[in-house]
Amino acid sequence: MSGMLIIECGCCGGLLLSSKDQKTKTCIYCGTRIMVFKAKKLGIAKNAYEASKILKKFKTKKRFTEKK
Ligand SMILES: [Zn+2]
Repeated sequence: MSGMLIIECGCCGGLLLSSKDQKTKTCIYCGTRIMVFKAKKLGIAKNAYEASKILKKFKTKKRFTEKK
């Protein structure tokens, strides 16, 4: 099983999960087609569970920065 990537949508800044061998990913927030290798990678996880944990962490962090 391949790992998961946490990537950021270059269009709306939304955080997405992608499998490592995936080439493109459609943003669930704005519908933009993202090239996974070009996207800003925020983290790497071993599996989907780990990935969702990391994603959650980033989302919390993001919420904090948006408040300021
Ligand atoms: Zn987006």
